[in-house]
Amino acid sequence: MQLIPQYKWRNWNDNLACTADLYRPRGLHELREAVRLAGRKGRIRPLGNSCSWSPLVPTSGSLIDLGQLRGMHETSHDGAPAIRVEAGATVRDLVQFTQSRGLTLISPTIFQDISVGGAIAVAAHGTGLGTSTMSDEVVAMTLVDARGDVHHLSAADGELFDAARCSLGALGVVHDVTMRCWPEFHLHVEDRMIAIDDVLADLPDLARTYEFFELYWFPFTDRMWCKLMRRTDAPDPGASLSQRLKFAFTYACTFASCNAVLPLLGRVAPELTPAFMQLAPKLSMTPGSAVAPASRAFHYQRAYPRCWDMSYGVPLADAERAWRRTIGLIERLARAARFPVNMVVHARFIGPSAALLAPAHARAICDIEVVTTRTSRDADAFYDAWTAEMLAIEGARPHWGKYMLRPRDVRARYPKMDAFLAHRAALDPRGLFLNDWLEDAVFQLHP
Ligand SMILES: Cc1cc2nc3c(=O)[nH]c(=O)nc-3n(C[C@H](O)[C@H](O)[C@H](O)COP(=O)(O)OP(=O)(O)OC[C@H]3O[C@@H](n4cnc5c(N)ncnc54)[C@H](O)[C@@H]3O)c2cc1C
Repeated sequence: MQLIPQYKWRNWNDNLACTADLYRPRGLHELREAVRLAGRKGRIRPLGNSCSWSPLVPTSGSLIDLGQLRGMHETSHDGAPAIRVEAGATVRDLVQFTQSRGLTLISPTIFQDISVGGAIAVAAHGTGLGTSTMSDEVVAMTLVDARGDVHHLSAADGELFDAARCSLGALGVVHDVTMRCWPEFHLHVEDRMIAIDDVLADLPDLARTYEFFELYWFPFTDRMWCKLMRRTDAPDPGASLSQRLKFAFTYACTFASCNAVLPLLGRVAPELTPAFMQLAPKLSMTPGSAVAPASRAFHYQRAYPRCWDMSYGVPLADAERAWRRTIGLIERLARAARFPVNMVVHARFIGPSAALLAPAHARAICDIEVVTTRTSRDADAFYDAWTAEMLAIEGARPHWGKYMLRPRDVRARYPKMDAFLAHRAALDPRGLFLNDWLEDAVFQLHP
């Protein structure tokens, strides 16, 4: 096993850093050994691909990096296909593996560079009211606790399994999970621009009508880009040359806008944001429809610049209110000549989750995320005000992995938090799998 003493860790967005001993186990035996060795010295945080904005990972103790554990094989669960995958594999590894076997994941994240362990730890999701989070697709897992003991968990373990399916890395280290997957199906994908009022008046209906539905709003525009996807028996015609060219064009435009134009605009001329936003839909999407295999249709986006991203899940019935508050705040700030949001506002729809700490726990949600460049002036003030707007909605809960403010306000929003903490204490009585942020702000273990 590789050990790098005093490793200087930084996250993907470069907003977090720490110095900690880093263990890189190559199998279950070495993972148990790493937990025992690190646990003798102090605290431990499991590490995925470092893509979270919130301070889930930083520690002055040890990091256990799962990056060497990426194996997977096909299996079955209740007679249906499933994949047993080690936690360090990326979503991309998993998507490619399922595709190669004529299978697909349901509701995976659009971004594929996160690890399976990291995705499960925060109940990451794609979109689809009829499904839920990636954690909900997990039917079994292998967890190493603070003593280095191995637990094979499944639905037979009841609430403990639902605690472990979204654990924030605070229950132990997940070595592998078994995830359900589905025979690959085709989707009819329609990309349409629809007037804001029409979309918002119809949100729950649209989300129920289209099995996979998501929408984007570029600030200061009067229409929303709706991605309306439903299953079809139509064959995959394959991407035509013109579709490939359009894809290359939108990729190039999105890449250049997000990495060069918008960061510059945010820094030197934010007042040009409304004008640029009028162009954004033309550069990033082409209205029309197509048929594609689900695994290709779910991963339509390729350009991912460093950015700020905060996201709240609100009960479906509050989706319109949350959207109106978001749009209202951005427009109010613009009237005061402040333009903090220069990328996009994006919404997805997620069915009720069984995982105790999933933002979608026990109710369907609309997840709204607000994304802006790192150079955006007033981003801090915007996110502060937006957090207040979202927290004023009783059932709103932030995404655990995205940028998060006011973490102390989150605990009371989870009816099963005490149950989660009881399982946590049983598996990790010495609090090895905590960091200061989780202990003090999120879990408030010493009120
Ligand atoms: C560009 C981008 C796009 C994104 N898109 C989406 C999206 O579409 N949908 C969505 O829901 N989220 C999305 N996210 C957020 C992302 O899902 C979370 O931040 C996720 O936790 C990142 O995974 P990671 O592998 O980088 O984990 P890290 O950031 O390294 O860790 C996150 C948490 O997982 C824990 N963890 C990691 N591995 C294990 C393990 N083996 N055992 C126990 N705990 C573990 C860590 O301790 C930590 O608490 C996106 C993030 C980025 C940067």
